[in-house]
Amino acid sequence: MKNAIHYTIAAVDPAAHLFEVTLRVEQPDPDGQIFSLPAWIPGSYMIREFARNIVGIEARAEGRKVALKKLDKHSWQAAPRAGALELRYQVYAWDLSVRAAHLDQTHGFFNGTSVFLQVHGQERLPHVVEIERPDGALYKTWRVATALPELKAKRYGFGSYAAANYDELIDHPVEMGSFALAAFRAHGVQHEVVITGQVPNLDLDRICTDLKKICEAQIAMFEPRSRRAPMERYVFLTLAVGDGYGGLEHRASTALICSRNDLPVKGQEAMSEGYRTFLGLCSHEYFHTWNVKRIKPAAFAPYDLRNENYTSLLWLFEGFTSYYDDLMLVRSGVIDEVAYFKLLAKTINGVLRGQGRTRQSVAESSFDAWVKYYRQDENAPNAIVSYYTKGSLVALALDLTIRAETGGRKSLDDVMRALWQRYGRDFYKAGRGRGVEEAEAEALFEEVSGCSLKRFFDRYVRGTDDLPLETLLAPFGVTLIDERKRDKPGLGVRTKRDGNDCKLANVYQGEAAHRAGLSAGDILVALDGLRVTATTLDKLLARYRPGDRFMLHAFRRDELMAFEVRLGRDEAPQVTLTPQAKPAAVARKRGAWLGGASAK
Ligand code: ZN
Repeated sequence: MKNAIHYTIAAVDPAAHLFEVTLRVEQPDPDGQIFSLPAWIPGSYMIREFARNIVGIEARAEGRKVALKKLDKHSWQAAPRAGALELRYQVYAWDLSVRAAHLDQTHGFFNGTSVFLQVHGQERLPHVVEIERPDGALYKTWRVATALPELKAKRYGFGSYAAANYDELIDHPVEMGSFALAAFRAHGVQHEVVITGQVPNLDLDRICTDLKKICEAQIAMFEPRSRRAPMERYVFLTLAVGDGYGGLEHRASTALICSRNDLPVKGQEAMSEGYRTFLGLCSHEYFHTWNVKRIKPAAFAPYDLRNENYTSLLWLFEGFTSYYDDLMLVRSGVIDEVAYFKLLAKTINGVLRGQGRTRQSVAESSFDAWVKYYRQDENAPNAIVSYYTKGSLVALALDLTIRAETGGRKSLDDVMRALWQRYGRDFYKAGRGRGVEEAEAEALFEEVSGCSLKRFFDRYVRGTDDLPLETLLAPFGVTLIDERKRDKPGLGVRTKRDGNDCKLANVYQGEAAHRAGLSAGDILVALDGLRVTATTLDKLLARYRPGDRFMLHAFRRDELMAFEVRLGRDEAPQVTLTPQAKPAAVARKRGAWLGGASAK
């Protein structure tokens, strides 16, 4: 392809976890071409400084070395010259996550943000990547999986792939290895499931059957008439490991990490908690195909890959996606109503634990994602709220409010469709991309629903009030009860196992351990003279009542300390949600909500 930016990427030394990239620019900036690697990857809001993994870099032109000057931690500038320029650099790829790059003898994975230098001023040119097969017998069976369009490559083959511009190039992660592969069609569009990692007796057919239902439900929600998917092809790139969980959304694919135990086993039909979690993750990332990959906050249109991109709207892009991920499981029939309300109750209990929710609104949590949500420490439950989980409850409350106030004529689905039509549908069409401005969201919600929502936004989005879920759920025949036992004792801590020791992971402010002076990081040693281990704390506590006093010994660093504790009660919420079968009119309303259509 003429005038394209050309990359070649080769897994030159899997044992040393090194990719080598060559980058050829036909017409570099004659004043000195600048190159840089992104500081973060869209979808994961933290500065990661991927350029720290570049271990060697040089520039050449016509066989001769060209001077490269480092401008800052992620940029270089070549000495001024006319004529084609070639860069060669190695990238250390040993981050087993969906956010960066990973390479060894078992597989290779990379995001473009970790390996492809951006050629400043030429981002709009076509970008071509030649993906080379590693040398050696071990790699003869390797294939390539990516949603990047093939240029001169067979599907799943090594060879060249092309993107229309840099933005597209870095939005298609690439997996290479000997993976399991299956495909299905959802409303006419090819979907592929790729699973890397050893998974004995993997039931890929079941995954395809369930994902097809989930994907079709989402396509039908955004495009009820045309049933047109926003992409021409979609790939679920999954890495199965012993213990892991994570996903990152892209415009036509997602990169996932899951525990192999979460994947279904051939011949077993029950819905395990792990498999439901996996389907929820797939559903979440797939929903992002619309919400954040095409409907975007203005701050992301376009992304500034060198700096933090501040937006106070992540509650809409992550929170609403978190609401719809589980909702789509029940709407598509993959789980039943009872299972859905269990998941919802778990989210509510998580949000209500800890005082952080009274100190930070979801709008503030969104804005500070870069330094707070993504960089949580032991004080997080006391200081911050999650724009994912509380954001999902904001979505739930808005959905129920709109349904109740409009007598079922409108719902949150109508709001999502309006966002899709105005911002998302044409986002990637030439020159059309515009994001949602901070002030536009609330106005659009009011316009589409016809409801007055200022007070709602003031209290629950910009403010820190708890959502009135009990009241909102009642008209839909769902009873919310907090079954917390008033006489159950609680220290007000979350513990984690450290060898055989019982270590305090979090200390909830205002509860018994905090009042006694204990701190996160303390290792509990003895309760009233009896040894505390990783497994004995709850049994020891069960012999006491709220209000009782005892001595607790703990190590802080290597110093033994004694604390006089006045036991409190267990403050962890125990919310349960129970759907009622009667009256029938109420059950029908609930059916309209969980079944997808507006009740007419
Ligand atoms: Zn997400």
